[in-house]
Amino acid sequence: GRAALALLGPAPGAPSCPHGPALLFVKTSQGKEEGRRFYACSACRDRKDCNFFQWEDEKVSETRLAAREDYNRNRQPSFTHRQNMDRYKNFVLLPLSKRRFCQECQQLLLPAEWEKHSDHQLLCDITTAQLKSPSQLLYPLENKKTNAQYLFADRSCQFLLNLLIDLGFRRVLSVGTPRLHEMIQSKASQGEEFSIKSLLLDIDFRYSQFYTEDEFCHYNMFNHHFFGGEAARETCRKFLNEENGERVIMVTDPPFGGLVEALASSFLKLMAMWKETEKEGHDNKEMPMFWIFPYFFESRILDFFPSFSMMDYQVDYDNHALYKHGKTGRRQSPVRIFTNLTPSMIVLPEEEGYRFCTICQRYVSSSNQHCEICNSCTSKDGRRWKHCVLCKRCVKPSWFHCNNCNCCTLQKHSCEKTDVGCFVCGKAGHKRSACPSLS
Ligand code: SAH
Ligand code: ZN
Ligand code: ZN
Ligand code: ZN
Ligand code: ZN
Repeated sequence: GRAALALLGPAPGAPSCPHGPALLFVKTSQGKEEGRRFYACSACRDRKDCNFFQWEDEKVSETRLAAREDYNRNRQPSFTHRQNMDRYKNFVLLPLSKRRFCQECQQLLLPAEWEKHSDHQLLCDITTAQLKSPSQLLYPLENKKTNAQYLFADRSCQFLLNLLIDLGFRRVLSVGTPRLHEMIQSKASQGEEFSIKSLLLDIDFRYSQFYTEDEFCHYNMFNHHFFGGEAARETCRKFLNEENGERVIMVTDPPFGGLVEALASSFLKLMAMWKETEKEGHDNKEMPMFWIFPYFFESRILDFFPSFSMMDYQVDYDNHALYKHGKTGRRQSPVRIFTNLTPSMIVLPEEEGYRFCTICQRYVSSSNQHCEICNSCTSKDGRRWKHCVLCKRCVKPSWFHCNNCNCCTLQKHSCEKTDVGCFVCGKAGHKRSACPSLS
């Protein structure tokens, strides 16, 4: 039988791993009515990174519970955020010649600690400029199943920031966007007329070495867990409170490894936090949001956020082999901006190949043709799509209509059907690993 795994979401009273409350999943196998439920780590999709596992109905002994608590405590970072701040204050007082950074431990070192790191690779003469660009100093945590830290190319980051400024936002809740946060912070420290603030929420605790507790919260976006407890939660709540009419927007760029429902559940909680802060009441308004994610997740995102629409802008990355804007011409990035703002307000740069479609009332890729039959600009990937009269919709140029499957698909495909829909696009006929969207 075919087995399927489904997320049931955050559950009250869930046990915790070092990454906060575990998520409840269910494993079903074909032919069986009910699957068996279990808890697993919310943040790590690779057992090597966190092997937490517990059946929902499992009895856990007092001894094991105590051992687990010990383990969770020991897995926390060696310095607290507060300690890291004190260390930073001392670090900036040092002359340049004494400012060292351990590349192996990814840590700023104070002179008394040099000895301990003597056989590690060190960076010396750490300048103030370097301290202001931690995303350049730290190496990106690229392991796909956990951090998937892909940093914005400068061009995309600049575009995002200018867009936020033009839209009149004065506060940015940066959830998993350290580079955007960094760009805002360093601009803010330069000019007085630049008055945008940012609060970074990220699971990468290395950033606590560079930002105060008002600028960074150690946060897990798959279970809405603030590692810093109530104080950190309060920092976030205060930030979302739009005092002095400073409008706030949330920008997030999560790992693409799936668990859209877990992300959505956390983002709804952040939106609820924003809503609670407003005394006059936001009526039926939602906290403005940019969710940066690949276009093939469009239907999954819209399931949770029906008010969102997908923008054609292609977000580029520095350290992603596939999504990088190459030297030899542009590699198409599949990553887009999903937003609940009115699409016509999101102005995309003409010089990068976007145009305004007056019928759709939004900016689109210049090769995205307006289809008369669908009455919209239908391309999702930036190439010109073609209309299939049998499917009654536009499809990728490389697809053809298969009479066997009764839908458009890749030339090379096997016509066998599967019962469960694909995890990525939700369609039947293939599994996630063979999803045509990913190719
Ligand atoms: N393009 C962004 C970075 C996106 S990469 C930029 O340049 O600013 C994804 C980010 O999400 C990383 O910073 C990573 O540390 C963070 N992240 C990964 N898993 C997370 C989790 N469970 N909770 C919160 N942040 C997470
Ligand atoms: Zn874990
Ligand atoms: Zn159009
Ligand atoms: Zn069409
Ligand atoms: Zn078709």
